[in-house]
Amino acid sequence: LIQLAIPLNFIGFVYREIRQGLTDIEHMFDLLDVQAEVLDRPDAKELEIERGAIAFRDVHFAYDGARPILKGISFEVPAGKTVAVVGPSGAGKSTLSRLLYRFYDVQTGSITIDGQDVRDVTQKSLRAVIGMVPQDTVLFNDTIAYNIRYGRVTATEAEVEAAAEAAQIADFIRDLPEGFRAMVGERGLKLSGGEKQRVAIARTILKAPPILILDEATSALDTKTEQEIQAALDVVSRNRTTLVIAHRLSTVINADEIIVLKDGVIAERGTHGELLDRDGLYASMWNRQREATQAEEQLKRVRESD
Ligand code: ADP
Ligand code: MG
Repeated sequence: LIQLAIPLNFIGFVYREIRQGLTDIEHMFDLLDVQAEVLDRPDAKELEIERGAIAFRDVHFAYDGARPILKGISFEVPAGKTVAVVGPSGAGKSTLSRLLYRFYDVQTGSITIDGQDVRDVTQKSLRAVIGMVPQDTVLFNDTIAYNIRYGRVTATEAEVEAAAEAAQIADFIRDLPEGFRAMVGERGLKLSGGEKQRVAIARTILKAPPILILDEATSALDTKTEQEIQAALDVVSRNRTTLVIAHRLSTVINADEIIVLKDGVIAERGTHGELLDRDGLYASMWNRQREATQAEEQLKRVRESD
């Protein structure tokens, strides 16, 4: 029932969006394009999930033939562990997540989950085991409860509220005049990037998938919001195989491995401590972010003392 309900839901959403002329056409084509980009093989099997171990093996990828984006990427996310990918903007970090979710196929090399190539299994069974919290969450033009329940359409009201609680967004919702029945999306209440991301986290908590992909928000969040989001992400990634794309390095200190991606290759890899000792790209990114944070705090203190 759940498997049937989600696609119907999605079609309903697309139809409503077109009918109401809410979504700009380009975005609409994006959505449709994503659906059409890869096809199930005729003999595609259901993904059989054991513990959700992920392996990228010598992955090469280009969106268009001329410009390679990933040039031989190999790494593993052992079951239940967290691997973080960091690196300059445009390095190909989000592309890794799109390949794992199979919005696109690798050109050469492979991506496997518990030993099964993602190209050999049905997209439905693949996406059922992955929870994706993207950089930019698009909310449906519906109630906030609907948007959270989308993670598991059979969830009860109490479960929706518990998920909102765990995602650190429940208090915010309760303060709204209409609470969980408040309309959100382009036609309703405009939520900030951080609030939308927490809705996506609540949705993912309800879905409770064995594998998580988190693409953290780039926008400068204030420290309090960042801490709230981090707490929510910690809850959802506990004991789950997690691939986190991090912009703020402070969020990856505890990752089991950190991969530093630059120009489509792995420039460095290791734990936070190992990478600091190495005194390379990661260490310089770390120092730069720390200086920026210190400058920010100093500025705040100056302002407060005025
Ligand atoms: P990151 O997440 O590290 O900032 P991305 O993986 O989003 O980088 O993008 C890597 C490169 O691929 C960038 O140069 C970007 O412009 C390009 N790119 C991303 N998406 C597309 C697309 N759909 N078509 C063509 N090029 C793309
Ligand atoms: Mg990105």
